[in-house]
Amino acid sequence: MPLSKCELCSSQPLREVAIPRWVSDPSDVERLTIEVCAKHYQRLNKAGNKGVKQRGYYYRIGFW
Ligand SMILES: [Zn+2]
Repeated sequence: MPLSKCELCSSQPLREVAIPRWVSDPSDVERLTIEVCAKHYQRLNKAGNKGVKQRGYYYRIGFW
């Protein structure tokens, strides 16, 4: 079985989420599905529309 890990760190993922990701313009998003760990899933949930910044990208749980 392939080892998977959280897209935002190297923890074991909790679940797969569909997220928009952007660099500076939140209306110009790339839509993708990533796996996130429990910690990052919580952070994404809390951040709401502001998103969470990680390695130069913003991520939010969302509304495609
Ligand atoms: Zn993580």
